[in-house]
Amino acid sequence: MPSVFIKTYGCQMNERDSGAVAAQLQARGFTLAESEKGADVVLLNTCSVRDAAEQKAIGKMQNISASLRKENPKVILGFMGCMAQSRGEQLLKQLPAIDLVVGTQKFHRTADYLQEIATGGRRKIVDVSEEAGSQSEIRDHPVSPGSQPGTVTAFVSIMQGCNQHCTFCIVPFTRGEERSRTIEEIVLECRQLVGRGVREITLLGQIVTSFGRRDIPVRDTRSAFVQLLDAIHEIEGLQRIRFTSPHPKGYGDDLVDAYGRLPKLCESAHIPLQSGSNQLLKRMHRGYTRERFLALVEKLRLARPGIGLTTDIIVGFPGETAEDFEQTLSLADEARFDNAYIFKYSQRKDTPAASMPDQVPLEIREERNATLLQRINSIAAEKYQNFVGQTVEILVEGPSKKNTARFMGRTRCNKIVLFDGSSRHLGQLMNLKIERTGSFTLYGDPAIINLS
Ligand code: SAM
Repeated sequence: MPSVFIKTYGCQMNERDSGAVAAQLQARGFTLAESEKGADVVLLNTCSVRDAAEQKAIGKMQNISASLRKENPKVILGFMGCMAQSRGEQLLKQLPAIDLVVGTQKFHRTADYLQEIATGGRRKIVDVSEEAGSQSEIRDHPVSPGSQPGTVTAFVSIMQGCNQHCTFCIVPFTRGEERSRTIEEIVLECRQLVGRGVREITLLGQIVTSFGRRDIPVRDTRSAFVQLLDAIHEIEGLQRIRFTSPHPKGYGDDLVDAYGRLPKLCESAHIPLQSGSNQLLKRMHRGYTRERFLALVEKLRLARPGIGLTTDIIVGFPGETAEDFEQTLSLADEARFDNAYIFKYSQRKDTPAASMPDQVPLEIREERNATLLQRINSIAAEKYQNFVGQTVEILVEGPSKKNTARFMGRTRCNKIVLFDGSSRHLGQLMNLKIERTGSFTLYGDPAIINLS
């Protein structure tokens, strides 16, 4: 049987797209390889959000093509996803060793294209065109052996594209216009996953809160996204629901209310802030102010006390002054996030911010990144410390990635907990007492495990 190795860069949406391609290839008789060594096909699913991610994927492909082609001249090499979409044909010129370039609306064509190349029908294929209905093609999940992590939790893609046009972001160019699946299709996929043992589902999209905005009318003051949450909540056997990534503007009262109403909706929310300065938020085209953002944080904490809140922040956006950055630091102090993904601003092709004046020098971006990281980490450390001595409910996902002698679960507010478990705990909800903390990790004492 031919084997394929798929390496994924970037966000959970990319993970999910790779999963759908893996399932498609399994159905055509491929086995999934653990590394590129000895694989018949190597596919890199790429990210374009920052330049560093693109350079990493290009470097990896250069290394792979130099070493693998010598061992196996027939190995097929391809790029998929965001960078494939934005660079297209140009990638073949830059890296003549590659055979395939598959854009973000064409993942479902990968198996056909590989077959065409393998049988000599075509030597090289580049397909980055748009395809109506492609959002409904990201639905199959690869089959993983029995107790592998990934069988208990699953990602479900509910839409593709983004219409926000934040001035820093390349996503609307790489992922196209927002297109949503139907509620029925999504519920069917979730039911099938639950039938396979999945207990927790994370709904995915670039801006999930915009789900179905154009196609599904508001009903009883509930937006399409909240109607979807309601429908998924009905699925018997499903224990937990999460979603990412939303937009702060998308947290209407109906969604805040859903946190109070739907017990399966975990008390955890990722709310991308980007900056604490109103002046910058305006230039980023974010559509909210720091005051509105902080009011939302308060509303969510009222609706679900103890809710875990995480965010994305960009440092060094063009024109960011020391005062603007101070505003971000002060917002971080007020909001007290459980964690934050901090990004140094990266100039992206064709985005309005790339040609804005006053680009911030790299040393300043690095300095601000370090300062903010330190602030976020010290707040998070205090919050993690507060868990010591508390009993938390975890869903056991599988062996820990770093130390397979330990097992890993997640609290409802999305904190990782490690404990000395075994495969019999897989997929179980357990109450566990927290004994100590590490960096963004909680440790539970196995002696006090309490099966629920
Ligand atoms: N839903 C998210 C939102 O509300 O903006 C978008 C997800 S985006 C793909 C992931 C994160 O990447 C963004 O939240 C932003 O912090 C970061 N990002 C996007 N473009 C960037 C750029 N040009 N430079 C640095 N970070 C960037």
